[in-house]
Amino acid sequence: MKLYRRLSFGRCGSMKTAQRIRELPPYLFAEIDKKIAKAKAAGVDVINLGIGDPDRPTPPHIVERLQRAVEDPKTHRYPVYEGTLAFRQAVANWYQRLHQVEVDPINEVVALIGSKEGLAHISLCYVDPGDINLIPDPGYPAYSIGTMLAGGEMYRMPLLASNGFLPDFSNIPQDVAKRAKLMFLNYPNNPTGAVAPEEFYADAVAFAQKYDIIICHDAAYSEVAFDGYRPLSFLKIEGAKKVGIEFHSLSKTYNMTGWRLGWAAGNPEVIEALARVKSNIDSGVFSAVQVAGVEALSGSQDSVAKMQEVYQERRDLVVEGLRDLGWDIEKPRAAIYVWVPVPPEYSATEFATVVLEKAGVVVTPGIGYGQYGEGFVRISLCVEKERIVTALERLKNARITYR
Ligand SMILES: *Cc1c(COP(=O)(O)O)cnc(C)c1O
Repeated sequence: MKLYRRLSFGRCGSMKTAQRIRELPPYLFAEIDKKIAKAKAAGVDVINLGIGDPDRPTPPHIVERLQRAVEDPKTHRYPVYEGTLAFRQAVANWYQRLHQVEVDPINEVVALIGSKEGLAHISLCYVDPGDINLIPDPGYPAYSIGTMLAGGEMYRMPLLASNGFLPDFSNIPQDVAKRAKLMFLNYPNNPTGAVAPEEFYADAVAFAQKYDIIICHDAAYSEVAFDGYRPLSFLKIEGAKKVGIEFHSLSKTYNMTGWRLGWAAGNPEVIEALARVKSNIDSGVFSAVQVAGVEALSGSQDSVAKMQEVYQERRDLVVEGLRDLGWDIEKPRAAIYVWVPVPPEYSATEFATVVLEKAGVVVTPGIGYGQYGEGFVRISLCVEKERIVTALERLKNARITYR
């Protein structure tokens, strides 16, 4: 049975797609997906360390709250487009409680259908053809795709190991900075697992003020951190609210990726612009899901501590296992990924192919996140530890090591 739609590059019968669609990059994991399907068909018990999607279920108190909310016919009608006041108030209280940040629930918060949606739509608010967005490379694809769909151009800010996977603003040419509209940042970072110190955000705010750039900080992993480390909210930095917004999501914090609920918070003009675009396109998040979101943000946070414990244990297994195989890598302090350099004789894609074919283990080639992801693979922590142990044993037996 064919499970995937055929990819059409440019044409579907005689119907020619728009230029903006034709410019979308080809799906970089298509080759690997084919090989995974082939291995599975041959009976290989494939261990997928490629998926960045929490494997544990949503905490039961949140599920139960949805069940009750869905019984209420009031939730069956069109939602409040910008998010119910109860949800936006819960977001404001959450910011206050967890990050000591003040946001006005009415003017400074908008609900999103998952943060990916907002990250992709924000470019429609600010980018005209010829404008530039500053994009981290490697990075989450929604930043660049949103830019392209708006007709904008990209300047890729390399995230290099030598700079702690932080962009170096002093390397951005002045003429580029002057034409730039948005700068996307994401810490804790997908795919590198890097975190950002307060001074970095302060530099980013100063750079944004100097060149009149809007910062879009993607904080999807702010609550997934280890060893007692607490990632900062961008909005806590002095002046941040003057120059930017922060995107957030319930997906990773509460194992709610399938529910599609997130928010953006910060500068009221930017929030208004995003809400205006969205109200004309999507009409908002199902009200019952927002009710459950209030429960997630306001109810017991015990599940969050448990989630952190689970990932920390898996992270330790992966990193210590790879060290035994010759890798010299550090433990990431946050997010759900280990960013692993590939042995020098391989490209990222070649190495991922070897790991799949010799060990039946899927890892994601870093090149899929941008050209500066070459030389790395991403290992995700979204499988139970028994599977991680088996995956590492298989690497060892296949003599896959770092030399
Ligand atoms: C998972 C993830 C998100 C969250 O996406 P949702 O649409 O909220 O599920 C956003 N940014 C990054 C970098 C992510 O990895």
